[in-house]
Amino acid sequence: MAQGDAELEARLAEQDEFEPTEEFVAQANVSDAGIYDEFEENWPDCWERAADLLDWDADYDEVLDDSNPPFYEWFTGGELNACYNCVDRHVENGDKNRVAIKWEGEHGETRTYTYQDLYREVNEFAAALRDLGVEEDDVVTLYMPMVPELPIAMLACARIGAPHNVVFAGFSAEALATRMNAADSRFLVTCDGYYRRGDPLDHLDKTNEGLDSVDHGVDATVVVDRLGDDGFDHDLKGNQHDWDDLLEAQSGERVAPVERDAEDMLFLMYTSGTTGQPKGVKHTTGGYLSYATWTSHAVLDIETEDTYWCSADIGWITGHSYIVYGPLALGSTTVMYEGTPDFPNRDRMWELVEKYAVDIFYTAPTAIRAFMKWGSKYPESRDLSSLRLLGTVGEPINPRAWKWYYEHIGNENCPVVDTWWQTETGGMMITTLPGVKNMKPGSAGPPLPGIDAQIVDTDGDEVEPGRAGYLTVNKPWPGMLRTLYDNDERYISEYWAEYSDTDSDDPDDWVYFPEDGAKVDEDGYITVLGRVDDVINVSGHRLGTMEIESAIVGVEGVAEAAVVGGNHEVKGEAVYAYVITEDGYEEGEDLRARIVEGVEDAIGPIARPEQVVFTPELPKTRSGKIMRRLLEDVANGAELGNTSTLRNPEIVGEIEAKVRAQS
Ligand code: ATP
Ligand code: MG
Repeated sequence: MAQGDAELEARLAEQDEFEPTEEFVAQANVSDAGIYDEFEENWPDCWERAADLLDWDADYDEVLDDSNPPFYEWFTGGELNACYNCVDRHVENGDKNRVAIKWEGEHGETRTYTYQDLYREVNEFAAALRDLGVEEDDVVTLYMPMVPELPIAMLACARIGAPHNVVFAGFSAEALATRMNAADSRFLVTCDGYYRRGDPLDHLDKTNEGLDSVDHGVDATVVVDRLGDDGFDHDLKGNQHDWDDLLEAQSGERVAPVERDAEDMLFLMYTSGTTGQPKGVKHTTGGYLSYATWTSHAVLDIETEDTYWCSADIGWITGHSYIVYGPLALGSTTVMYEGTPDFPNRDRMWELVEKYAVDIFYTAPTAIRAFMKWGSKYPESRDLSSLRLLGTVGEPINPRAWKWYYEHIGNENCPVVDTWWQTETGGMMITTLPGVKNMKPGSAGPPLPGIDAQIVDTDGDEVEPGRAGYLTVNKPWPGMLRTLYDNDERYISEYWAEYSDTDSDDPDDWVYFPEDGAKVDEDGYITVLGRVDDVINVSGHRLGTMEIESAIVGVEGVAEAAVVGGNHEVKGEAVYAYVITEDGYEEGEDLRARIVEGVEDAIGPIARPEQVVFTPELPKTRSGKIMRRLLEDVANGAELGNTSTLRNPEIVGEIEAKVRAQS
């Protein structure tokens, strides 16, 4: 490392607060600090500001109907169409030639859709769906990889008022069947296959296996031909149709966008299942779309001229809100990438940022930690000067990774928004407004304007700054889930029962509980510590896994860490740490000692790891989150829980063997 770099690293390591540059603030969509008070004073009417970003077919009568909590309704009486807002209105406003989607395949092939192109294909596919028998309110399942046909199918569904139910393509046949059964879905759009690290994968085979387990039968399946000549040998069955044939038959067809009630379902999304049985989260047309669009405008700072890239998969809520609906409603250019970040090379992401002159980049901490592990030479070999703003979502980000992102990707010029939210919240809830607030690495920031979040103890009383507690949200917001599909009871027991008076019909008695632990500082900045079940209780002290992990990842030579609580005779629970080393460092006693010291220095001897296990990988869900409950099973020598949603199930056995060898 050059001398200058070392000095820079040392300075950044010391710094715990960062200001956005004047240049950024001057151009930001939101730069008036008064917005927080304005939203508080005018709540709930403040949310008209979000609704105003959309075109409505019929004005709403009321911003919020809270007469039957927790079944809140937003923008009641209003009518609109999500597809119209994401496509037609830009074509009508003279932006038909603006690029809507820039798609890059794993092999470097590209496709570009202007808003006019999108308009044409969405209309044709909407016509095809109708001909196949899809009616308003029928749930259409989309089991597709990152191909342009996925957002096209979503928008076509929205156009005809058929809620979509996207199932991540990496999920198993069984996961597909479970979700189609649960959602009573009789229509499916899928793909013959796609590429992963150079090899074609047979997706249709997996689809067909899943379809065999759909109880209620399936009326029609549409298959996108992604692989062409690389395709596997499949004959389409009687009710299976080729995407291209359908579009050809509908060439030039137009379908009028259906006027949907604001509260009509836009889509269902089953949560990733990090913690248990997937939940069918229901999102609506008016509230969700307003909220996704507003947060894209205020937090991601997206403007129509921008080329914006979110590297998530559309199979997750992040891709729904911040690849498809938010950016397209704002009329910007959204980038879609089919492949993985290290294929064919570890500079793939930065190659694309350079090639498309990306203005805004949004990714996950797990990706940032991988980039950090690979080293800064990859981003340094590319021109990233087009970037204006960076974002992260999905997990807590430790300060060291935050600073690496800020320095090596943002060149210290781009604000970093650490955005806390969930499938259930529809959009971002806690994060800095980049043109208004300073950033504090390791803390997501204050609740967004209009969001009323508090950190409370088990009794629901607010805890003092600095103390760990439970995150709660005390007022509804437009993007919130409306219920769990077909299960109002579970909606209440899962998210509300903990801190609400469930017999009351006074909205003040209802509190939303996201099941995350958190703490707040004197300035109202919230640090999310992780899921409630990720809190470790050592001799009566409640320790957030994130805090300990952050201390471990702060040690030189450590790339990534996961800690869990394992049963301990004396302490109740003890800390078990699983650690991946950075490239170029060796595992062993020296590093182990430095890790223990690092934790003791940062938190105290109470958090001292009982065991440090080095591993080449951590068990991760397909969305890239560490599956801590399996590591807990390993620490406790218990039988392993369900590993079906893991990306790398084989690693759990390897870790188990290491733990046994060590103890
Ligand atoms: P499931 O609910 O099915 O177990 P999941 O919670 O992983 O799955 P998501 O809705 O995608 O599914 O993830 C939301 C969760 O991710 C949050 O509740 C929180 O635990 C974590 N999270 C997201 N963003 C952040 C962030 N910026 N900081 C800390 N944690 C975050
Ligand atoms: Mg969750």
